[in-house]
Amino acid sequence: MTTTDATVTDQLQRPLRDLRVSLTDRCNFRCGYCMPKALFGANHAFMPRRELLTFEEIQRLARLFTPLGVRKLRLTGGEPLIRRDLDRLIGMLAEVEGIEDISLTTNASLLTIDKARALRAAGLKRVTISLDGIDDATFRAMNDVGFPVARVLEGIENAERAGLSPIKVNMVVQRGVNDHDIVPMAAHFRGTPHIVRFIEFMDVGNSNGWQLDQVLPSREVMARIDAHWPLEPVSPNYRGEVVARYRYRDGAGEVGLISSVSQPFCGTCSRARLSAEGKLFTCLFAGAGHDLRDRLRAGESDEAIREALINIWSRRGDRYSELRTHETRPVDTRRIEMSYIGG
Ligand code: SAM
Ligand code: SF4
Ligand code: SF4
Repeated sequence: MTTTDATVTDQLQRPLRDLRVSLTDRCNFRCGYCMPKALFGANHAFMPRRELLTFEEIQRLARLFTPLGVRKLRLTGGEPLIRRDLDRLIGMLAEVEGIEDISLTTNASLLTIDKARALRAAGLKRVTISLDGIDDATFRAMNDVGFPVARVLEGIENAERAGLSPIKVNMVVQRGVNDHDIVPMAAHFRGTPHIVRFIEFMDVGNSNGWQLDQVLPSREVMARIDAHWPLEPVSPNYRGEVVARYRYRDGAGEVGLISSVSQPFCGTCSRARLSAEGKLFTCLFAGAGHDLRDRLRAGESDEAIREALINIWSRRGDRYSELRTHETRPVDTRRIEMSYIGG
């Protein structure tokens, strides 16, 4: 269904507001829940460079998406900082009329001070940095390439010095793997402007061996932190905000809980995802995408592509996480990997 100002809503009346753009399917980490080494080994066939959308193609798509309602762009991957000249792309996206917010999700391993400054100067406002533990041994084991915590903390500091602050720090919690690090993680970032967000381990893709008993529900995360430093809820920044916000009652800052499994938020999901090779997915758990690169490279007009986007979104009925909660186990379909579709 479309409205007169051309913004588009889907079958469940959800608008299209966010576009997450994966810039590469490659990564220098091998987090077990995302790119386990057994499946992403030395012989893994990543996308050849010519298959990736060019910066010009990404900018053109951004221009086609904004009239339909997209206001926020998030650049992700794979590891987006692997993509050369990322600051040039940010500059090109910052020029797109209608885009109000551009952010980046990164493991920060390549976030030098020069890189952080270049991204900021190009128009990046915010950065989300993934860090799954503050205990060095735990974190090295989780990224499975022995990458030290200290270097991610350096990346966080570089982002802060470049003016990309406050920083959101994402920690995916897996029971029995890193849940002992929840309280130390909260302790480390208490008293800083940065916001740690604890994310429930999700059954994305087919390769991470997800089991419901590895999910530590957010209410338990909250209880563990609250037992040390009492928390109180903070009202959401906007309707449909995915993160539940809490602040320390003693004024030492804020944490967030993302309960993708225990309290799914499909009802307000306004996100579409674009893979690095230009396939559009209307759900993180979709089995197939819509090929936009073919349309771009076949020389289709802006009008034709925009019409296709309206069709895709207005037919959307996805609500995978809500359905999975009723089933309490992964719904048995082939799904796309997180490193491909972009987190
Ligand atoms: N490489 C970048 C990074 O790690 O920040 C960007 C891509 S990564 C796929 C984006 C986010 O998805 C990360 O915060 C990561 O922890 C999260 N993620 C990946 N697999 C996940 C899973 N199975 N459940 C929950 N979050 C996941
Ligand atoms: Fe790489 Fe990010 Fe996936 Fe970890 S979560 S393997 S850093 S893409
Ligand atoms: Fe959105 Fe799909 Fe996640 Fe539901 S499961 S919140 S529809 S991406």
